[in-house]
Amino acid sequence: MIELYVKKPNELELRHNNSVPAPKGDEVKIQLVYGGICGSDLSVYKGKLPYAKYPVRAGHELVGVIVEKGEQASFKIGTRCVVLPNTFCGVCDQCQKGLTNICRNKKSLGVNIDGGFAQEFNISSKYVLAVPDDLPNKKAVLVEPLAVIVHAFKKVNVEKKMKVAVVGCGNEGMLAAALAHYLGAKVTAIDINQHKLDLVREIGDISVFLPHEIESLETFDVVFEAAGTKVSVESAVKLAKPGGAVVLIGLAQEANFPIVHIVRSEITIYGSIIYQFPDDYLQAIEYLRDPEFSVEQIVSKIFSITDYKEAYETAASGNAGKVILSFKEAEKL
Ligand SMILES: [Zn+2]
Ligand SMILES: [Zn+2]
Repeated sequence: MIELYVKKPNELELRHNNSVPAPKGDEVKIQLVYGGICGSDLSVYKGKLPYAKYPVRAGHELVGVIVEKGEQASFKIGTRCVVLPNTFCGVCDQCQKGLTNICRNKKSLGVNIDGGFAQEFNISSKYVLAVPDDLPNKKAVLVEPLAVIVHAFKKVNVEKKMKVAVVGCGNEGMLAAALAHYLGAKVTAIDINQHKLDLVREIGDISVFLPHEIESLETFDVVFEAAGTKVSVESAVKLAKPGGAVVLIGLAQEANFPIVHIVRSEITIYGSIIYQFPDDYLQAIEYLRDPEFSVEQIVSKIFSITDYKEAYETAASGNAGKVILSFKEAEKL
């Protein structure tokens, strides 16, 4: 059994383990098919997340098959499933209000508890959701990152013909652009990297700009900020039209806000973190099931887990869309 660890910042380690113990209680054993590499996986790898622990098994964007279950688990063997990679306690004040995404005791797979980049792992059923038969694994691996966008879109109401800007075209930004386009908005995507803009353009009729090209252009009803830098947050606020909204998804440490502009123009600024489970996951699945929702362009390449170094390098290059690790073909060791 192969599993991928971040041993310490800037050091990945492929480990070979004999076997995973039988699942207990409500746990299921998942045989992983695909794992997506996310910006936060790269931040853990590069040592940029202060709350990460090392060594940690990587990975939180996961689709696999249930192969064994504990006596209290109600899933059927053979069920294909995705995983909620953020734990919640269920008892704190936030959880009591149903706000499990801001649980006070939240832990994140692949960051501060072991993640799912393993050919097999056990996890509590409460973090597992079955996927429908008509959702192929290649799309199902996008359920988790798309759920982040589904949640962000609930802060505002993206409607047909609305002018939407997406600042930052990493995986989340690309998914935001794809969803806004699918919902009929007039979408503009902005990034410093022309390769990413070219990928976004393949999604559909989306206008793309480098940051210097957008300046003094029109303003937008809704701006999604998904780059997570000081400069990108500051320009996102400037792009909102009077009465407009900015949804911050990226994790910039800090930024200067033009308060006079925000107050005089009644700009609303939202923060949005991950998702509500299972609601935002179920909505993400519904979008992904629709062949009209084009996201295939966002997946750059599928690497075998044994080519993990190349996969991480590609993901970190800044030029790729979503990079996926495949665990199914790799030999069982
Ligand atoms: Zn992710
Ligand atoms: Zn809680």
